[in-house]
Amino acid sequence: MCAIIEKIENIAIIIKRYKLKNSMQLRSGVTIHEINRDEANSKNYLTRQSLSKMHLMPSGEPIAFEVAPDGNIIYYFAPDKVVEAPPEMWYSPRAKVEPMTLESGTVIERMSIKRAASCGYYTKERLLQMNYETVEEPVAYTQRADKSILYFYDKRTAKRLPLMCVRCGQFVRYKKKLCEACYEEEMALRRAEGDAHRGAYYGMDPEKVLFFDLELTGFYDRDEILSITIVDATGKLIMDTLVKPTHTKKWKRTEKIHGITPDMVEDAPTLSELIPAIKEIFAAAENLIAYGVSTDYSHIKMIYDTEAERDELHEKIRCCANEYVRYIHEHRPDLVNASLIDAMDCFAIEWEGTPHSSLADTIACRKVWAALFPHYYEA
Ligand SMILES: [Zn+2]
Repeated sequence: MCAIIEKIENIAIIIKRYKLKNSMQLRSGVTIHEINRDEANSKNYLTRQSLSKMHLMPSGEPIAFEVAPDGNIIYYFAPDKVVEAPPEMWYSPRAKVEPMTLESGTVIERMSIKRAASCGYYTKERLLQMNYETVEEPVAYTQRADKSILYFYDKRTAKRLPLMCVRCGQFVRYKKKLCEACYEEEMALRRAEGDAHRGAYYGMDPEKVLFFDLELTGFYDRDEILSITIVDATGKLIMDTLVKPTHTKKWKRTEKIHGITPDMVEDAPTLSELIPAIKEIFAAAENLIAYGVSTDYSHIKMIYDTEAERDELHEKIRCCANEYVRYIHEHRPDLVNASLIDAMDCFAIEWEGTPHSSLADTIACRKVWAALFPHYYEA
């Protein structure tokens, strides 16, 4: 009697789960429909069991299903969506000795837990630990020492359960593995930390905080510098020069962006001529700030010969883009882009000079930094 009630409950769960009794949604989002055995036979659809007997296994998703008397699902597969099964999935001689017939008529074989795992078959409990819920009928079984039966289910057709919050474990995940409440709590904490970081009084000397930008012949490390701009935090222009590349003759792709033509740099100094002046400026600085500093750093570090000098330079480098990304992450999750123009838009900063020239970019970077760190120069 109890068993019958359980079966009815199982079927009720399935009906509830898929809304309509005659269709279900697979993990991929594909919807398949219920058919009966005669229909399946007429279409040459194959069950897992009939495939297994031919040493085959499905290579695609099921295309139809049937609800077995015990409430479990029997999947049907298309005959052209099959592959040869690996030997561990073949019927073992032992299975022929100890087959078990389910109520649906499906015959399942006995196998060890180890062999089951190598086929991707697990117990209900194990699948639940992996966050999967079974809907299909068992595909194999084993018998424990106490004679009790343990069924195995195919993980591939198990239903993935919604993941729970890693912190409270009570609610479904929302973002960053946390539920909405835990995520908001976490964000409030991070926002407070970020605000303290940005709102702090750093007491920096505005003459020793330098903003810089480079324009290049291309996007890679091997490309050459075409212009350098350095501005201090008071707005004073420290260096603004074009640079003549020594081995690049044209740069059509970047020319469109920064507007520097080969003719314009014809009479400009080369980088090696500028190095002593740049080194002197950088040596006197406490901070070197750029927007998206990694490309600029990978070029500017080349003016130094030793690792020690490069490390010293790196210590002074601050990335305005990283700080902006942190800011919007904490305060403006609606903003997803973080180019210099996006940062300027966010703080209502207008261009000074020709957009995308190293001069205009440097000035804009200085203003974005001031918006992010309003007390950077106050003690
Ligand atoms: Zn939570």
